[in-house]
Amino acid sequence: MAKLRSVKGMNDVLPEDAARWHRLESTFRELVGRYGFGEVRTPLVEPTELFVRSIGEATDIVEKEMYTFDDRGGESLTLRPEGTASAARAWLQHSVGNQQPVTKWFYMGTMYRRERPAKGRYREFRQAGCEIYGDPGPFVDAELIDLVVRYLRALGIQDIEVLINSLGAGETRDRYREALLDYLRPHASELSEDSQRRLERNPLRVLDSKAKQDQAIAENAPQILDYLDEESATHFEELKAALEAMGTPYVVEPRLVRGLDYYTRTLFEVRGRGGDLGANAALCGGGRYDDMVAELGGPSTPAIGFAIGLDRLLLVMAEGTPKPSLDGFLIVRSKELRTKALAIAQQLRDAGCRIDADLRGGSMKSQFRRADKSSAPFALVLAEAEAEAGTLQVKELATGEQNELPVDQVADAILRG
Ligand code: AMP
Repeated sequence: MAKLRSVKGMNDVLPEDAARWHRLESTFRELVGRYGFGEVRTPLVEPTELFVRSIGEATDIVEKEMYTFDDRGGESLTLRPEGTASAARAWLQHSVGNQQPVTKWFYMGTMYRRERPAKGRYREFRQAGCEIYGDPGPFVDAELIDLVVRYLRALGIQDIEVLINSLGAGETRDRYREALLDYLRPHASELSEDSQRRLERNPLRVLDSKAKQDQAIAENAPQILDYLDEESATHFEELKAALEAMGTPYVVEPRLVRGLDYYTRTLFEVRGRGGDLGANAALCGGGRYDDMVAELGGPSTPAIGFAIGLDRLLLVMAEGTPKPSLDGFLIVRSKELRTKALAIAQQLRDAGCRIDADLRGGSMKSQFRRADKSSAPFALVLAEAEAEAGTLQVKELATGEQNELPVDQVADAILRG
């Protein structure tokens, strides 16, 4: 029988890697908590139409990457490819906007896209993100970009580049679309197959196409910043000034459009420049999507958000020294003492210690071998004499130093190190 393996592009996280994941997650939670973001948890599965309407039909995600299936009732469902649409759906469904003028939410979880797997690109991956509803910016835009930079720095990721752009609003998009089409049409036959097909429906896609021939043509395309309406231009100037006032580094990249349709005005991407991923790997993408809530059937509501790719952070983050996952390893001299050992282990756990024990009844030598292999700094030995006296031998494994202590003093001793 063929060996069963996980689905291609979907990876297990084993306990030895879990500590680094916890660091990514707890640092994020702690940081966004300081800004007043509350956590939203939405289902992994949504009606397919949610993503088609918000992300846009002529996008890579909707055209090729979604895991879509009909459930037994015939409804088309999709594993979420990103978090923004689900959060907006939940915000609308629960009429949160009626209860508070501005909502600040964060989420963390797995996303699903059927992309070609590569280093840092998976079919199940994890994102952490923030969404703000009800504030038109630009100051909150700057604050959010700065938050991402602070998060990366807190993880020791310094070598980054923050790219910003503005896509304007309403008529900007229409005027720019026309100008871009005028420029692209004569080059149509040189474009990639995907871009040729999408050209009339969604010419902006050509600008962030990964195909080499498209990139060469995009190089000389007209730039959206030259087409901004007055309000959007002011918004962008104020955003830049706010970033400068906070000391947040940024670079204006007029060709940044990103792969989803819903963005308006502020758009940003944070790229890592070092580490395992190589140069220019996108770590975080975000932007304003002032039209999406209305698009989903709600009242017109300004909104902005970002998503950080946690799998990629793991690849660029400094290693750090792993913390031991145990405080003590209990060693039991004879089989008869195992019941007693159980009670002592529980007493130590109740006192806050992380304790493992080898209860198979093997030799002292084999138990010490397991203690040495574990991450516990102390072996705690229970033999007949200690059981009688209500004590344990506490042996520091690194130095070999050993003391006999009453059981109720052991927790203190090993937690102090
Ligand atoms: P997006 O939702 O496409 O704006 O992506 C936001 C961030 O999620 C990116 O900058 C990546 O760090 C991460 N990301 C997107 N797609 C994948 C993937 N297939 N595998 C791993 N990370 C991803």
